[in-house]
Amino acid sequence: MQSATRRRVSLSGCLAIGLTLLMLVIGLVSLLRPSGSGGTSFDTSPYALDLAKEAYQWRKNHRTTDHNFGNGAIILEYSDGSAPSVYPSPMYEGRDGPPDDINAFHSERLTHENYILPMLAQLRRNGILAKASRVDIIIFSQYHVCPVCQRQMRNWQDQQRCQAGSANVFLTIWELAQEFYPLARDPRKRPQPPVNDVGDIQTVDIPFVEQPTPVWTPTP
Ligand SMILES: [Zn+2]
Repeated sequence: MQSATRRRVSLSGCLAIGLTLLMLVIGLVSLLRPSGSGGTSFDTSPYALDLAKEAYQWRKNHRTTDHNFGNGAIILEYSDGSAPSVYPSPMYEGRDGPPDDINAFHSERLTHENYILPMLAQLRRNGILAKASRVDIIIFSQYHVCPVCQRQMRNWQDQQRCQAGSANVFLTIWELAQEFYPLARDPRKRPQPPVNDVGDIQTVDIPFVEQPTPVWTPTP
């Protein structure tokens, strides 16, 4: 009788410990999960910070300009836990295009069209993409992304997936957290904001168009 009670007690004790452990594990997992950046489960912020720092140095070391600087990178991740491969773009200096295609030469579009798409095609052709378990694309802009670019960006992830031949491609757009424009009337927006940590950059929330069977004809 006594031993049966003890067994019951120890059984419920085990259950309590088990439940506590389970709660701890769930808590840890949710803590470890990177904060959502465009719905991705890979934390692109350290890579975006590198791009932002590079753009900062570029502006500092090159002629004074009121143009935007921007860049991007393709990051290949592997399921065996080996370090991701990073393919950084050149630096692009943005400027306005003709009125009917005002963002033709904005740095974000130059990064997407002149680097990301052709590089994805190249990485696909030579079999490098096939080794990756996931592909993250990041595009960074010093200026806040204009509404025309933001609208067009809705299709960019889909275009990149088509070019890569995989739905496992995730795009995140980044910009400086602080508004920056050297010609701004507001003198506080004129100096280049310092870039020291991930708090100095932010993601731009783009509602990407997702197509079940993407149709994209790459330019030859
Ligand atoms: Zn733009």
